[in-house]
Amino acid sequence: MSELIKIRNYVNGKLVDPVMGKYLENINPASGEVYALIPDSDGKDVDAAVKYAKEAFHSWSKTSIEYRHDILSKISDLIRDNLKLLAKAESKDNGKPLWLAKEVDIPRAAANFKFFANAITLFASQAHETDQTAINYTIRRPLGVVSCISPWNLPLYLFTWKIAPALAAGNTVVAKPSELTPMTAFLLSTICMEAGLPAGVLNIVHGYGHSAGQAMVSHDDVKAVSFTGGTETGQKIATLAAPKFKKLSLELGGKNPNIIFADCDYDDMLATTIQSSFSNQGQICLCGSRIFVERPIYEKFKKDFVEAVRKLKVGHPDQPDTRIGALVSASHLDKVKSYLELAKEEGGKILFGGKEVIVEGFENGYYLEPAIIEGLAFDCRTNQEEIFGPVVSIMPFDTEKEVLEYANSVRYGLSCSIWTQNLKRATRISSEIEAGIVWVNTWMLRDLRTPFGGMKDSGIGREGGLDALNFFTEAKNVCIKY
Ligand code: NAD
Repeated sequence: MSELIKIRNYVNGKLVDPVMGKYLENINPASGEVYALIPDSDGKDVDAAVKYAKEAFHSWSKTSIEYRHDILSKISDLIRDNLKLLAKAESKDNGKPLWLAKEVDIPRAAANFKFFANAITLFASQAHETDQTAINYTIRRPLGVVSCISPWNLPLYLFTWKIAPALAAGNTVVAKPSELTPMTAFLLSTICMEAGLPAGVLNIVHGYGHSAGQAMVSHDDVKAVSFTGGTETGQKIATLAAPKFKKLSLELGGKNPNIIFADCDYDDMLATTIQSSFSNQGQICLCGSRIFVERPIYEKFKKDFVEAVRKLKVGHPDQPDTRIGALVSASHLDKVKSYLELAKEEGGKILFGGKEVIVEGFENGYYLEPAIIEGLAFDCRTNQEEIFGPVVSIMPFDTEKEVLEYANSVRYGLSCSIWTQNLKRATRISSEIEAGIVWVNTWMLRDLRTPFGGMKDSGIGREGGLDALNFFTEAKNVCIKY
């Protein structure tokens, strides 16, 4: 076996070993092989990182906007310059197709830094005149040390989505990527060093959520936590943070509806629905896992969808024609498979897929055929709980009222797609649907200025654009009487 890559923490501008010298194994999901070691950091590593971040805050928070713009922009450029290296690392760590990492994940990470480097130059505070007797002006200041904790599904994409606005607004950061996909965050450390980011401004501590992550959330000197991950983890974080009155942004799970009316642009809908169902092996919080199809086109959709999904190649992430790569871990594969069993127990029929796939030369990888289920009630567990894998359930409906009831029946409220040419219907459903993000005749078309986040158990707060900069700053109003 070739020598294992050793990932290190990034603290006070340097790459360092974890204080206790302990490491976790990092597995390549496409082959099932251990290929790297990850610091198994704990409270001691977090304490050190927070201490340096606190020291760095004094000068970083007072730097000019132009200075921060230039450094963040440089980081963005370096991410672009290292596109191939980062995409390869992301694909190997996560199991996603290499072309996807190249086309989406890494360009988006660069775009996050560029966007917030620019956004901060336009971030202005407000003034309000009160009845011609006084003027109010609002000062917005960074919070101090903040923590950014991200999941494994879009590793560098979501990590930078939090770090970039936090740094742009003048905070210093102690961040943790998922212990399942730490590699691109590690590579980001070296990019930040090359870009000249001052020591201590960004600190990246690797390790488990229950140790390193929890230590960040509980630390008295961490003023805010921006978290993306599962709803249950979000609950734990909220419980720890609430007594200390920390600011919280929580982007959590989803069980998103994809509502298809008979009058839709059928070909566009079908092509997009394949993506919204199975992109990134269905491991995107925005994937539409509950597909409601108006009855007049249900049978046609079912036939065409199954036929198209059958053609999606499950294979090694490096192969350019792979459409479905490996799932992120053995335990996640087991979880997804257990939901397929549950679906059968609940009366569902698997129309296609759901079997493990053996990829030649990579027999220990975590590969699964994309699965389409029908015949399930809208309120059964398979249709209510987040599976977060390549599994969708298709259901016919007859009326708008009925489909809204089905769509809104879950605890989640992250996103929704609506397919119709009828503008009145699209606006009616957009207004009634319980989701933070609604797409009409599209899916995952992102504009970084828009508020991003979920309702109900999908989270608290919004990221993106001014919402992110508002989150990472605290407002102080000054009222002066004329
Ligand atoms: P997870 O909750 O298991 O882990 C997310 C991160 O939190 C990891 O870095 C983990 O180490 C850390 N963590 C775990 N326990 C912690 C604790 N007690 N204290 C502090 N940190 C802790 O989620 P995951 O399995 O990595 O990701 C999948 C989930 O993320 C899915 O539910 C998915 O819907 C959700 N997600 C949501 C969005 C969104 O924008 N709403 C985006 C992507 C993923």
